[in-house]
Amino acid sequence: MRIGYGWDSHEFKTGVPLRIGGVHLPHDKGLAGHSDGDVLLHALTDALLGAVAAGDIGGYFPPSDPRWKGADSAIFIAEALRQVERAGYTVANVDSTLILNEPKIGPHRSAIQSCVAGMLGISPGQVGVKAKTPEGMGTDNAAIAQVVVLLTPVIKKQVKRRARASSSSNPKKRAPSKAKRTR
Ligand SMILES: [Zn+2]
Repeated sequence: MRIGYGWDSHEFKTGVPLRIGGVHLPHDKGLAGHSDGDVLLHALTDALLGAVAAGDIGGYFPPSDPRWKGADSAIFIAEALRQVERAGYTVANVDSTLILNEPKIGPHRSAIQSCVAGMLGISPGQVGVKAKTPEGMGTDNAAIAQVVVLLTPVIKKQVKRRARASSSSNPKKRAPSKAKRTR
């Protein structure tokens, strides 16, 4: 197994759309910066890359490169996933914390979970999204994201699946474990 960690921050600016976790949130300010300013997806990209020691987001998508100006951050996630797959891993789960004064994330939590899960090919139940206000930090005009990911090796999973398939010759033994898994 591998663990990965990512952190990102962006400043709020008026007249910019707000995108967090690939979801457009209605707000009078958005996050300025390189690409679409999606602080959660940038932290997630770094977490994925970090888990397989494949560098960081800036190495693949330099802010100085005009190609990434206003770019959809889903592109960054796709590249990080390619690196994860190349290293022989798959995403087990993601957990994240957003630190921002506003808007409230609660009403958009399930949309963000679904969107991120879709990008990673996992279920929304494997994507934790938590939010806090920046008490005493003096970062009221910024959004910060912290993300951890857990990866499992693809090969070991396939071996397990094969073992499960061969144990299915004994239906009495297999039935209870299957019931457990689907619960
Ligand atoms: Zn960023």
